[in-house]
Amino acid sequence: GLAVDSPAIKPINKGIVHRICAGQVILDLSSAVKELVENSLDAGATSIEISLKDYGEEWFQVIDNGSGISPTNFRVLALKHHTSKLSDFPDLQSLTTYGFRGEALSSLCSLGTLTVETKTKNESVATHLTFDHSGLLVAEKKTARQVGTTVMVKKLFSNLPVRSKEFSRNIRKEYGKLISLLNAYAVIARGVRFLCTNSAGKNAKSVVFKTQGSGSIKDNIITVFGMNTFNCLESVCILLSDDCKVDGFVSKSGQGSGRNLGDRQFFFVNNRPVDMPKVSKLVNELYKSANSRQYPIAILNFTLPSKACDVNVTPDKRKIFFSDETHILQTLREELLKIYSPTNACYSVNKVE
Ligand code: ADP
Ligand code: MG
Repeated sequence: GLAVDSPAIKPINKGIVHRICAGQVILDLSSAVKELVENSLDAGATSIEISLKDYGEEWFQVIDNGSGISPTNFRVLALKHHTSKLSDFPDLQSLTTYGFRGEALSSLCSLGTLTVETKTKNESVATHLTFDHSGLLVAEKKTARQVGTTVMVKKLFSNLPVRSKEFSRNIRKEYGKLISLLNAYAVIARGVRFLCTNSAGKNAKSVVFKTQGSGSIKDNIITVFGMNTFNCLESVCILLSDDCKVDGFVSKSGQGSGRNLGDRQFFFVNNRPVDMPKVSKLVNELYKSANSRQYPIAILNFTLPSKACDVNVTPDKRKIFFSDETHILQTLREELLKIYSPTNACYSVNKVE
């Protein structure tokens, strides 16, 4: 055969590695904003404002009233794998925070321009911080602010030419996906006020949605989706196995409300919004047998010991592994059948056909 030279294997330049990996943690607008909202929740915020310029294409910022960031952490704040939340591998078993890998801020630095404004209760004045694309702190100045943190990202993906073009082209779709995800957090985060605004072009900022930070999922659903939608829901609370339960709401069989498939389906594991394609498929399938004209709404929160699930499956943490999945799905099927069986008299009184 042809004698081809074997090229030397060389390490990739560190900056390029960083950019490649960052693009896996931050896939799109919604995963970028999600990371910031989760950081605010982890910091104990009771009020979170998400503000977008041109649907997030120009910039977005998340403003919270959480703990703030101590000056001793400024220098390492946006360095890769620097976190205040996880110090030991076994900690993963007992996760109580959304974040744990210290990747979000460093990834956002690499993909756009990151600035932070923050103040803890121990400082008399806030600090404005600017980071470069490798996560190094490059500027620091005093500013005025209440206790809490504002993280701003300008020009997301400007560093990845192909994705940047796609991002601009699909911005309205990305925006739609983001709002839906923010709705999920606003529903599940009890006692946290959400305000989301957007300012398009020369227009002043307008409110996309807002909640009052009520203490119950039910009230959050009513504020986010309205009373009419809530009235079409049936509450569920099901013990799925010895240590796993699910509670939340699904459409009553006669009153589906989703306009599109998966339009209003939100799944959570221990209050963490996740994708659950198998559960979604199951709900849709069972619902279809009772009502083939509409799609079901589903807002379901699974509670199980953190050792029984693995959230560290994908960089965006949206995918999850259950240790007892087959059994859990089977029990869920049996219980939902009680709601969606056309012959079940108890539930068919709700039908409005
Ligand atoms: P992780 O959330 O996995 O720790 P991040 O890159 O998202 O990693 O954040 C790095 C660190 O910055 C966090 O561990 C936290 O200490 C701090 N931090 C980020 N955002 C905030 C915030 N809004 N309020 C307080 N601290 C924050
Ligand atoms: Mg985080």
